[in-house]
Amino acid sequence: MKIICIGRNYLKHARELDSDVPDEPVFFMKPDSCLLLDNRNFFIPGFSSEIHYEVELVVKINRLGKTIEARYAHRYYDEIGLGVDFTARDVQRQLIAKGLPWEKSKAFDSAAVLGEFIPKETLGDPGQIEFSLRKNGEVVQAGISGDMIFSVDTIIEHVSRFVTLKIGDLIYTGTPAGVGPVKINDRLEGFIGERKMFDFLVK
Ligand code: MG
Repeated sequence: MKIICIGRNYLKHARELDSDVPDEPVFFMKPDSCLLLDNRNFFIPGFSSEIHYEVELVVKINRLGKTIEARYAHRYYDEIGLGVDFTARDVQRQLIAKGLPWEKSKAFDSAAVLGEFIPKETLGDPGQIEFSLRKNGEVVQAGISGDMIFSVDTIIEHVSRFVTLKIGDLIYTGTPAGVGPVKINDRLEGFIGERKMFDFLVK
């Protein structure tokens, strides 16, 4: 399985990073060794002094597909979850400045936290899915799916032109504004609506 992540998919987040607003989806990948499951502790890696959280809605692919049209994309997933796309921001900044790939800043072990999933039918309007991240009890990020620059179905259409999607693949759909650093003993709790999707500690 593979993890596909969408960058700059919320206007306010693109602006907070001084990034251009993309005219088509920006994606990158993480290996399966990134997954951090079951609310296990996240350990800050030694190579970075600026690890940022990015809370994101996550789509789980349930069918094999290639060159999927957006109007059929809804058939390729039936669960939505929540995760964190951990980013070594200091490392990423250096890589971007040199025009190098992002993997060192995005694809390190435990950089893809994954919580629970919810059947999408139970979430109602796909444009009205509210989600949030609390750090030490305080809301630091709050988003709504309708603010995505590219919808899930558009993302699936775009990505599947380049990469075959397989059962179990995950798509992290981008983060809203409010990203920021973590430090040892921080507690991160993610919510879709009122429902808690993950709850873990930074060590
Ligand atoms: Mg992200």
